[in-house]
Amino acid sequence: MPVLVMKFGGTSVANIDRIRRVAKRVGVEVAKGYDVIVIVSAMSGKTNELVGWVRDISPLYDAREYDAVVSSGENVTAGLMALTLQEMDIPARSWQGWQVPLRTNSSHSAARIDEIPPDNITAKFGEGMRVAVVAGFQGISPEGRITTLGRGGSDTTAVAFAAAFGAERCDIYTDVDGVYTTDPRISAKARKLDRIAFEEMLELASLGAKVLQTRSVELAMRYNVKLRVLSSFEEPSDEAGTLVCSEEEIMESNVVNGIAYSRDEAKMTLISVADRPGIAAAIFGPLSEAGVNVDMIVQNISEDGRTDMTFSCPTEQVARAEKALTAAREVGEVNFRDLVADTEVAKVSAVGIGMRSQSGVAARMFKTLSDEGVNIKVIATSEIKISVLIDRKYMELAVQALHDAFELDKSA
Ligand code: ASP
Ligand code: MG
Repeated sequence: MPVLVMKFGGTSVANIDRIRRVAKRVGVEVAKGYDVIVIVSAMSGKTNELVGWVRDISPLYDAREYDAVVSSGENVTAGLMALTLQEMDIPARSWQGWQVPLRTNSSHSAARIDEIPPDNITAKFGEGMRVAVVAGFQGISPEGRITTLGRGGSDTTAVAFAAAFGAERCDIYTDVDGVYTTDPRISAKARKLDRIAFEEMLELASLGAKVLQTRSVELAMRYNVKLRVLSSFEEPSDEAGTLVCSEEEIMESNVVNGIAYSRDEAKMTLISVADRPGIAAAIFGPLSEAGVNVDMIVQNISEDGRTDMTFSCPTEQVARAEKALTAAREVGEVNFRDLVADTEVAKVSAVGIGMRSQSGVAARMFKTLSDEGVNIKVIATSEIKISVLIDRKYMELAVQALHDAFELDKSA
């Protein structure tokens, strides 16, 4: 029988009523003839509570015990979901990660999946089980200890199962009804996309559209798993939600398909750096060791052997970046006159695979911002994305203006 993976996020299983409600949805797919693998998150708020308890007891906690504690939220929902399905006369069984087994490496609290042998679950499907309810977010290390995949990891569990079982589709049920052209809280004209390409979704996910864990999209792209994002609070239909799929499955699309933003960015400039071979390595090496996630980088033309180097990073990492660079200067690794941090900036990006074949997108973006009187501080581009750093106070305005300029309220 064909296999379908259905993943339910924390708000979809937040209480017994909601578990009953989504169990009905599982029942509908079972009735259509699918063997269903249900991946569940912990009830909403549960993981945060568990993390809080761990930190309370032990600020420098042992990551193995952190995983032992925080993985438990999913165990509860898996069992409750299996019971609910059984009450509906659907043969269902819960599976914790180790029982499958979902094998990971030993990077506790941020483990990577190594393999999911399908044999155990497939054998049970063969014996008449119709639904395997799997606890998301968790696995087992080579040492035999419980691991977790990082916050939001149930999305990744779901995609990995879909790949391992050759599922027809992986439906991610959440509290939003799909992927939008931009944040509907910022632009009232935001439109739900029927389809979006993996690469675009990847850009949007990593740019701060928090619908899917970025890793899950990477995995879906690598194994060509069709992903559908849809709301568990709306009536189901074939058009529901957004399909994240390969480019080939999208007939026509706009040049720009999404405007993303990231509010808490900082722009840091090293003024008057000695320009010599190895200078970038000397700056960004210590930053990377300090765990600073550098995003955009601009090096100015140098004059008399000195230049300015600008980069962006999340606001919360500014102190860490300053510390790392000051230390590097003290030991003579880098030589700069001043370090200036602008913590009042935001990043706004236009994303679309159509940019590969169509020119003029950057020009239109810059013209739009200039018409609104918004000054651009840093620009970065990739094949399918243009990002700018601007003053944070203009972020909403910029998102709205760009959404209008690229006519994202209309479909292709
Ligand atoms: N419960 C975990 C978390 O809140 C994993 C997930 O729901 O995806 O991060
Ligand atoms: Mg999530």
